[in-house]
Amino acid sequence: MPNDVQIAPAVLRAFIADIFAAAGCSSAEAGRIARYLVAANLCGHDSHGVIRAPRYVQALKNNEVFADQTVAVASETGSLAVLDGRFGFGQTVAPQAVAIGIAKARALGAAVVALRNAGHIGRAGDWAEMAAEAGLISIHFVNVQGSLLVAPFGGVDRRISTAPFCVGVPRPDGAPPLLLDFATSHVAEGKVLVASAGGKPVPGDALINPDGSLTGDPHALYGEYEPAGPRNSGNGLGAIRAFGGHKGSGLAFMCEILAGALTGGGTCGPLEPGLRRGRRISNGMLSVYLAPGFFGDPAAFEDAATRYVEFFASSRPDSPGGEVLVPGEPEARMRAEREAGGIPLPADAWQAIIAAARSVDVAETHIPQGR
Ligand code: NAD
Repeated sequence: MPNDVQIAPAVLRAFIADIFAAAGCSSAEAGRIARYLVAANLCGHDSHGVIRAPRYVQALKNNEVFADQTVAVASETGSLAVLDGRFGFGQTVAPQAVAIGIAKARALGAAVVALRNAGHIGRAGDWAEMAAEAGLISIHFVNVQGSLLVAPFGGVDRRISTAPFCVGVPRPDGAPPLLLDFATSHVAEGKVLVASAGGKPVPGDALINPDGSLTGDPHALYGEYEPAGPRNSGNGLGAIRAFGGHKGSGLAFMCEILAGALTGGGTCGPLEPGLRRGRRISNGMLSVYLAPGFFGDPAAFEDAATRYVEFFASSRPDSPGGEVLVPGEPEARMRAEREAGGIPLPADAWQAIIAAARSVDVAETHIPQGR
């Protein structure tokens, strides 16, 4: 039985970049995919980290995603752009879309960018962080076309994707941004993936069986699977539940309408008859960018935000030793911890990544030994 591993971020980045370069991406794109996947692990979102590499490799082999794409502009005004990601890697076409939003919002104070047909964009928070680094607030509605995983409030049949929602607000003096970034499902699908690979279990009420009973068992989503084998969410008969009752289900619904229907990429369903998973998974993202300087004195905004952060966090903890955190704080803390101590990976996930590397002929000498 192989052991769980702990890997230094730089070593992991180099290995993941090797995999995607061997799979056919340019070295720039391979490095970008590695950077964002490892960044997700660093901030504690293992569900969107390197565990995704085998799926990404498979998607490239299946022509579900294409190497080194450039977004196509479908329509554009001074403050608006509708972009087609042409099924390029999300780690390539999403930053292209964000860069366009940044340029427009800097010029006009606000911009809206609709991105459709993007390969998996990973953590939505990456794109809010990129905008925040440029001094901009951003709001992102995301859906996952072809990915029916979540039952709506009151239902058991899958009708929504995990549709993440994200808001990022820059902070002064290089402080990490305020960053709200979550899947509108009770748990992100990747968290079920991590649990199925021997990682942290999901809560016992995160999934729902077809009979309406609640469970935390990943088999409800994936059906039967081998420990290091692929997971197919089309095989399970159950669903992930939407978070937050009717409110989370409603927010997810609006992500489908805005990121799916309005961008032109399409909503998560209905799928072709007989399918429980689309033939191709892609993300749509409707993003709003706001330049605080156009709203008034940016220093006054920063002061008011800082005072509110302190007021919010000063609420008395509800239990001894507890604390109140602002959105983005858990990720910033985890990043500091893992930058120093390395990234832990469950044995199954690590073996699946090594298998993906071998499948594209990465040299054995380039496969790192985790400790
Ligand atoms: P999560 O449940 O861990 O919630 C994360 C958010 O809650 C963050 O904003 C975090 O700062 C905040 N938070 C967490 N603990 C907190 C605490 N104790 N106090 C205050 N705030 C706290 O996130 P998730 O739903 O598992 O989503 C994980 C990632 O998955 C996200 O980055 C999301 O964008 C991504 N995702 C991507 C896709 C896609 O198709 N690309 C789909 C679904 C999810």
